[in-house]
Amino acid sequence: MDRRKFVTTAGVAGLAGTAGLLAACNSRPEAADCPEGAAAAPAETFEWKMVTTWPRDFPGLGTGANYLARIIGEMSGGRLTVKVYGGNELVPPFEVFDAVQRGTAEMGHGGAYYWKGKIPASPFFSGVPFGLTGSEINGWFYHGGGLEVYHEAYAPFGVIPWPIGNSGTQMGGWFNKEINSIDDLKGLKMRIPGFGGEVLMRVGGTPVNIPGAELFTALQGGTIDATEWVGPMNDLAFGLFRAAKYYYYPGWHEPGTALEGLVNKAAYDALPADLQAIVKYACQAANMDMFADFEARNGQALRTLVDEHGVELRAFPEEVLAELRQAAAELIEEQAASDPVSGKVWASLKTYMENARTSTAVGSQYFVNHR
Ligand code: CA
Repeated sequence: MDRRKFVTTAGVAGLAGTAGLLAACNSRPEAADCPEGAAAAPAETFEWKMVTTWPRDFPGLGTGANYLARIIGEMSGGRLTVKVYGGNELVPPFEVFDAVQRGTAEMGHGGAYYWKGKIPASPFFSGVPFGLTGSEINGWFYHGGGLEVYHEAYAPFGVIPWPIGNSGTQMGGWFNKEINSIDDLKGLKMRIPGFGGEVLMRVGGTPVNIPGAELFTALQGGTIDATEWVGPMNDLAFGLFRAAKYYYYPGWHEPGTALEGLVNKAAYDALPADLQAIVKYACQAANMDMFADFEARNGQALRTLVDEHGVELRAFPEEVLAELRQAAAELIEEQAASDPVSGKVWASLKTYMENARTSTAVGSQYFVNHR
């Protein structure tokens, strides 16, 4: 056995053992094995708030934020508790970043592309149009250099970001007319955030970004002509099928969107090391749990939309996708050239994407097409 590794592991186990003993002594100070004086210093507790861009308890997104808060409380034995707020409960959805930055809340949950006005590189961390799937982008974050550039991009704001959840490949959106050529997107007023919205603009559409909770009313009332939201599970929950006839795929603009957790750095730095580790690894656990939640529920939700609500599924024509792909490639290269942080992030992501494409093509992509 590698000696250094053994010593490190033993050190971590020893630390955890000491923390566990102290916690036990705090609740049972008369125990014979408690070090003298241990009971005199009760463990410090922390109460955090988490603001989100989602409606409270919204399937997958809001419930994922709840899951993260719950496991942080469980893992810390109640020493760090997190209270979750839905959009507009403490701050409006699109003020989540500001609230975490100024410390109104210690944590936030939303999507990186909502903060493009503040951090031009932020949409890269949600994912790029025609880019990575959910599995691929997790590879980039954890083992492809993604987390390093993500943290670096947000450091000037005193905010630590983590990927928390992934929608999987989204749907293309809800339309009340068929999209048979790129001309059908011209003049279309559509809710579509991030780089996807900018691509739509390049082919003649008018993108708007409004919070999820307002989508149904906007689409039904004609404020917008079309909208994307997420995928079957979330779109069913908002009842978007009642406001549009056609449900298009694929979500070329969001092929595997990473959701985002934000932590106020000063609040994080004020935690003892073991609670910092709990926050970090709880975020990683919640990332995987939310991804699995979407994977598990989208299939049934899609069947419900089609079989019970008569939704008409449509694929975007190949030539429409080709034009969007071209516009997306130009946009991303221009974005990367316009801002040094974006350039650095894109360099990392692009290299990873080229490798991922190669292996996915002969792996999961080829396999799924043949099962
Ligand atoms: Ca979306």
